[in-house]
Amino acid sequence: MSLHKPPLSNASRHDEKSFFQKVNQHFESAARFTTHPRGMLEQIKICNSICHVTFPIKRDDGTIETLHGWRAEHSHHKLPTKGGIRYSTLVNEDEIMALAALMTYKCALVDVPFGGAKGGIQLDRADYSASELERITRRYTYELIQKNYIGPGVDVPAPDFGTSETEMAWILDTYRSMAPDKLDAIACVTGKPIELNGIRGRREATGRGVFFGIREACTVVEDMKSLGLSPGLPGKTVVIQGFGNVGYHAAKFLREGEAVVTGILEVEGGLYHPKGIDVEAVAAWREENGTIRNYPDATLIDNPQDGLELECDILVPAAVENQITAENAPRLKARILAEAANGPATAAADELLKQRNMLILPDTYLNAGGVTVSYFEWLRNLSHVRFGRLGRRFEENRHKIMLSAVEKATGYRFSSEEVELIGHGADENDLVNSGLEDTMINAYHEMREIHKQRCPTEDLRTASFITAIDKIAASYRQAGIFP
Ligand code: GLU
Repeated sequence: MSLHKPPLSNASRHDEKSFFQKVNQHFESAARFTTHPRGMLEQIKICNSICHVTFPIKRDDGTIETLHGWRAEHSHHKLPTKGGIRYSTLVNEDEIMALAALMTYKCALVDVPFGGAKGGIQLDRADYSASELERITRRYTYELIQKNYIGPGVDVPAPDFGTSETEMAWILDTYRSMAPDKLDAIACVTGKPIELNGIRGRREATGRGVFFGIREACTVVEDMKSLGLSPGLPGKTVVIQGFGNVGYHAAKFLREGEAVVTGILEVEGGLYHPKGIDVEAVAAWREENGTIRNYPDATLIDNPQDGLELECDILVPAAVENQITAENAPRLKARILAEAANGPATAAADELLKQRNMLILPDTYLNAGGVTVSYFEWLRNLSHVRFGRLGRRFEENRHKIMLSAVEKATGYRFSSEEVELIGHGADENDLVNSGLEDTMINAYHEMREIHKQRCPTEDLRTASFITAIDKIAASYRQAGIFP
């Protein structure tokens, strides 16, 4: 289900700012609302370290190719650093530093105790066979080990655009083979397959977090009113750009939450149906046919970029950066822009969108679900025990005793569905999803409150950066580094 094709067109040419400059511009807009000393702000903003590796790989036809990869550790205020590894032709040093910086702010915002990092290899994975990708991933991991850019207490990668559980399994295996007696080696990477000490719910986590975030935003009556929308998610129309792991799961959960997914956009084209599209059916269609085109129960949008301008309540860009530009921003009709992707709008587009009565759910907040569940996976790996393993049965037995006491006292007979619902003890999935839900709800209100108190004329993005900067500053202060 991951996007293996080249990403949707990169429209950064409309914007002079690089991605990292754009992130830093957001940082500076927020820094104005804080009182931290300039030296501390500089330390928070700067990218602490980056490594650029080039390495050869032998193609299946025997030729040798040189590839470029990077890993940036943006902030060491907490360790390990954390962030995904992406495979894309857009990968370059600036992009990786920008994405690592976003990881720092994202983790701080949702109270995940990591510094931010990001890695990537510049390639189009569609050009390589599975065994070539395995050789590339293992060699890249080897480079990271050599340079001390990976380890359970150092820097912990995860999936990102163009990578999945499969690559994480190769990373783990390579790391483990180089550190055979390290007890905690399994915590060197997250987003692993369940069979290799991954955690239930990680694959869906970013999309599920996007859903929780949008749902929470829609519950705030005052905010919905000022947008001219009714409160609550049910009935709201949604257009999703990108049908990879994040886009697909966000669409699926939003639909289950009774939103109406009217548009799905991918590299090869888009689909539109005013009454809603069956997300699972489109996923099955794409799986079988390799494209969403020709899906029978929706109208085809030939150029997927046009789909961004569809009439809808919520637009969810879930692909790559710089999809919304100064050129197309004035034509967006959505009332809520839900940034599931990192940096989906250019700096110039951000400025234009800010002027409009539009609710922007910033990437720093909205796509934090992935790293939140990665944190749970890392904890699980360090404790070497599955969540729920010790308490589930005990909890279940207690519930059963309680239910039969209630039946005895009242004469009421619980149906088998009720017994199942009330009686069952929390397993790993329940605990992960509840931890994720709690994280997304709390962070939303914390960010919203900062917005109200500190920067009511700005957008939620500025509030998200203020929240993050304050938390990072507090940890530097506690470490005695700054007064
Ligand atoms: N790649 C995801 C992100 O950008 C997840 C990172 C992680 O789990 O470490 O947030």
